[in-house]
Amino acid sequence: MGILDPWRGFLITFATMFRKTFTQGYPQKGKEKVTEARYHGRHQLNRWPDGLEKCVGCELCAWACPADAIYVEAGENTEAERYSPADRYGKVYQINYLRCIFCGLCIEACPTRALTMTNEFKLADRSRLSLIYTKDELLADLLEGMEAPPHPRRLGEEREYYRGLPSTGADIRVVLPKADKVESNEKEDQS
Ligand code: SF4
Ligand code: SF4
Repeated sequence: MGILDPWRGFLITFATMFRKTFTQGYPQKGKEKVTEARYHGRHQLNRWPDGLEKCVGCELCAWACPADAIYVEAGENTEAERYSPADRYGKVYQINYLRCIFCGLCIEACPTRALTMTNEFKLADRSRLSLIYTKDELLADLLEGMEAPPHPRRLGEEREYYRGLPSTGADIRVVLPKADKVESNEKEDQS
């Protein structure tokens, strides 16, 4: 360690004193708290584009949860009454936000990408019961072109729904090409 190294640390502290601060009161009318896109907030149970539920009631999320915050009971689909493209669906689904530590292990464990986490962080409430979220509260809204289950599969056979899904635990991060490779590609495009 050089003789000036300790002073470099003080220099960073000193320079920080002149940086613009970002302090936001909460709740503050007209200004929403800024969260990163990767922020892990309230969960969501997703749907397929035809409106069927992605959850197949496998309980892997509940088993992965270190806080025992998830409760799942599966139900059997029939051709007359179908809620998901698979044999089973999540008939009862609850997340106890008095226990959840927002670690994200449950969404890693989900094989169908049914369970994801949103940016929603306003989870405070006045009663314990209201912090046990039920399936109705967790299920994603129906978007345009979606039909409320129960209804038959609209996207094809069961396997058509799951084709292309990464396996559980797979690294699904997007690997960007290196800068020099991008540059050489751009030059090739121009020539
Ligand atoms: S985020 Fe973590 S603690 Fe919360 S329900 Fe999922 S696995 Fe359990
Ligand atoms: S959310 Fe995913 S892991 Fe949990 S029961 Fe449904 S399909 Fe299985």
